[in-house]
Amino acid sequence: MALDSGAYRALRRELRGTWAAAGTRCWLCGQAIDYSLPAGDPGAFELDHKIPRKQRPDLELDPRNCAPTHLRCNRSKGASVHQLALGETTEDW
Ligand SMILES: [Zn+2]
Repeated sequence: MALDSGAYRALRRELRGTWAAAGTRCWLCGQAIDYSLPAGDPGAFELDHKIPRKQRPDLELDPRNCAPTHLRCNRSKGASVHQLALGETTEDW
């Protein structure tokens, strides 16, 4: 995927700077993000795509489809997507 592309890294760096300056909160849990935490910390910043890349790869580099999250929030979201992939049904959909 294009996740490792220079364009994506540049976009993420730019958005992180914008969000850090504005104090933008995690769009999944609504809590503040400490943008100074090192990568790998559960509370660290991670860029999320509101519409998953799997569904709309064309929106991967669209800033309007990007939002800041905590690493832990993004991971737990990924876990639930994984559950769905295992064939579980959900009434929320
Ligand atoms: Zn969060």
